[in-house]
Amino acid sequence: MKKIPLHIRIFIGMLLGILLGIISIVFHLGPFITNWIKPFGTIFINLLKLIAIPLILVSLISGVSNLKDISKLSRIGGKTMALYLITTVIAIAIGLIAVNTIKPGNFLSKEKQVELSSKYAQDANLKVSDAQKLKQSGPLQVIVDIVPDNIFGSMGSNRNMLQVIFFSILFGIALIMVPEAKGIPVKNFFDGVNEVILKIVDIVMHYAPVGVLALLTALMVDFAGDDPKQALELFSALGVYAFTVLLSLALMILLVYPLAMRLFTHISYKQFLKAIMPAQIMAFSTSSSAATLPVTMECVEKNLGVKEEVSSFVLPLGATINMDGTSIHQAVTAVFIAQAFGHDLTLVDQLTIILTATLSSIGAAAVPSAGLITLVIVLGAIGVSPEGLALIIAIDRPLDMCRTIVNITGDAVVTSMVATTENGFQKVEPLN
Ligand code: ASP
Repeated sequence: MKKIPLHIRIFIGMLLGILLGIISIVFHLGPFITNWIKPFGTIFINLLKLIAIPLILVSLISGVSNLKDISKLSRIGGKTMALYLITTVIAIAIGLIAVNTIKPGNFLSKEKQVELSSKYAQDANLKVSDAQKLKQSGPLQVIVDIVPDNIFGSMGSNRNMLQVIFFSILFGIALIMVPEAKGIPVKNFFDGVNEVILKIVDIVMHYAPVGVLALLTALMVDFAGDDPKQALELFSALGVYAFTVLLSLALMILLVYPLAMRLFTHISYKQFLKAIMPAQIMAFSTSSSAATLPVTMECVEKNLGVKEEVSSFVLPLGATINMDGTSIHQAVTAVFIAQAFGHDLTLVDQLTIILTATLSSIGAAAVPSAGLITLVIVLGAIGVSPEGLALIIAIDRPLDMCRTIVNITGDAVVTSMVATTENGFQKVEPLN
């Protein structure tokens, strides 16, 4: 079993989950599944939630502090951050337009939406009381709420992840500003803890096949009750959801990036794609921007001719904080789950998604499934139960593989744009 790659094992878990789900529905094994199988799915969700706060805290501190010398890097840093932010917001906007137009969640029948949403009525009520609180408070309360008055208090609840992100960025910036002799041990400490947390993600992901099996079986049983036809409805809705994610990702690669390259660089997009294709293949097969980083750097430096002084700063930062594919996925998924639970999203909710999906794609580590964990932030911010992850977790891996391609392509596009303005190219042999 050890030798089978993880994504295949997760896929097998998914197939077995579906099979067990069908058997349970046909043989009316609902209570057995709820008592004996579903808890393993709950444990998996808990494990994901368990590492969310430490992961964001440590990976952001270590990512921001990679800026190293503020004065030297402030110009390039400013440009890079601005471009990363702009491309991320464009990505989220595309995702939101696609999901609001296609409405994949509505492929679930009205009755099913009502049933699901009443199942999560407690959270809906929470949302209503949150909304009322918001009405009573001033218009700037949303911003005030991002700034914690006690970081340990913030870390005590997964609902406060925005506050943890705020603290981590502040800490990372301050870490760059303190004298090197004092800063280096702290940075090394956080880099080390970062490794440990990533290892925990690794360990948790080994449990993913079992978690996915349990979640999927329980989901099908919960969903279908005694009617197998209704299970089919769920899978057609998931198909449309996956299509919406893939379409938005494709728009980024086929429309936004070529336009950016054409307007802001001298490199033809065909040449660019040829140059970074090895990195894209790596991203697809590892689902990790971090694992792909060495290949991305090599492609951008050797094939495109970007000078190391630009690429060695822009690319590692991008791998950590710039995830256009992940942010598209967060936006589409949050709205899909809300639609599936029958939550009506207001304009404020959609704007909240733009803000939180930006921040949580920044906070997501560059490893497989990291986006799933930070999705909890986006769902929490719009008052949708994180249990909704159960709906999409089973088909996350193929989507993760595709969004990671977009993540690293976005990094390479921005690197080329920054290099163009910084005279950061050198001559290289053209690729055949
Ligand atoms: N796997 C993605 C990456 O490493 C992150 C995610 O969306 O889960 O870029």
